[in-house]
Amino acid sequence: MRVQVVIVGSGPAGLLLGQLLARAGIETLILERQSRDYVLGRIRAGVIEPGAVGLLEAAGAADRLHREGLVHEGTEIAFQGQRHRIDFKALTGKVVTVYGQTEITHDLMDARDAIGAKTVYEAADVSLHDLTGDAPIVRYRKDGVAHEVSCDYVAGCDGFHGVSRRSIPKDLIRTYERVYPFGWLGVLVDQPPLSHELVYVNHERGFALCSMRSATRSRYYLQCRLEEHVEEWPDDRFYQELTRRLDAEGARNLHPGPSIEKSIAPLRSFVAEPMRHGNLFLAGDSAHIVPPTGAKGLNLAASDVAYLSAALIERYRENSAEGLDGYAAKALARVWKAERFSWQMTTMLHQFPESSGFDRKMQAAELDYLFSSKAAQTALAENYVGLPY
Ligand SMILES: Cc1cc2nc3c(=O)[nH]c(=O)nc-3n(C[C@H](O)[C@H](O)[C@H](O)COP(=O)(O)OP(=O)(O)OC[C@H]3O[C@@H](n4cnc5c(N)ncnc54)[C@H](O)[C@@H]3O)c2cc1C
Repeated sequence: MRVQVVIVGSGPAGLLLGQLLARAGIETLILERQSRDYVLGRIRAGVIEPGAVGLLEAAGAADRLHREGLVHEGTEIAFQGQRHRIDFKALTGKVVTVYGQTEITHDLMDARDAIGAKTVYEAADVSLHDLTGDAPIVRYRKDGVAHEVSCDYVAGCDGFHGVSRRSIPKDLIRTYERVYPFGWLGVLVDQPPLSHELVYVNHERGFALCSMRSATRSRYYLQCRLEEHVEEWPDDRFYQELTRRLDAEGARNLHPGPSIEKSIAPLRSFVAEPMRHGNLFLAGDSAHIVPPTGAKGLNLAASDVAYLSAALIERYRENSAEGLDGYAAKALARVWKAERFSWQMTTMLHQFPESSGFDRKMQAAELDYLFSSKAAQTALAENYVGLPY
């Protein structure tokens, strides 16, 4: 079999890339290790930048997002019992949209089905070969049968644990990493959110976040120790702890309910450079990870795809490799700024076990400055709604 572009992974990066390329007449094959239902069952990101919304529109997969997504003009940060609002709309003229990653995945899969583009689910043992030659080869197994696909380019959209980044020789790739000494315990519940915007909480017992996926579905997070297990957190204990970290109004408006999902995610900052090896291009979590505090993971996957799809379209339409040659540098420039913002939000809002009295004073001074300075609020808002592509 031969296609122009093989895409490894059907997360948001792979599906969005597949859709943008298909609409430009470029033939793609997506290889996904998991089943379709498994991919659709993953509960992850939920805050979408306007840039990513624009890409979903270009992909023909934004109708439901516009109908059902919640537009947020700001966010709140609670500290020492007081809530402070950052008004994105007033400060930047932009807003974000709350719409679950699961729904985005659903919409992109439906759009892909509608144009008849092919995805192989449960593709096992995907391996990449001849990446520096003119005709890379991708091998995989499906139902025990071996397959081989020849292509012009491979897009590595297979997330942090995928095969693509590992296919780059170790001496040609450099990684940068910071692992944080805590995780997020997340609970999904079919109850209305406690506020119509996200509430970030810096509390001496640890960070908390009150988020949502819709007007009737809330997503709550608590900072927890890495060695904790979800079994140690029955719903009652979770809501008790969340109530202790919230301001009085937040605690009053909290609607507890039986959790429909509960999980612990570690927090990590990670970047692999370069994002290209021969005719393999990395996009999304395969090349970088951010702690979710800045809501940037999915949005960064989208901005990589914006650059990569434009470069591939230029390559096929104009027979120019200029865009592809500039892809890694362009994507990484935006990635590092989002890494910085996500690291800064994480540092500003969490309790670090090794923090000294001085560190805690610095955190309080940073928050006090943020709440009192329009310039500081504008910098936060500008990064939160997403830097330009
Ligand atoms: C538990 C969790 C919670 C998160 N919460 C948030 C959040 O609240 N806010 C936020 O902004 N971001 C969040 N993120 C990050 C966000 O979900 C990711 O940044 C986003 O999914 C990146 O999309 P992607 O397509 O690059 O990678 P992924 O979504 O990881 O997709 C990669 C795909 O590749 C497939 N794959 C992997 N290996 C192979 C292989 N060898 N062969 C074939 N296919 C393969 C995987 O099954 C997967 O479907 C969270 C991530 C996790 C893990």
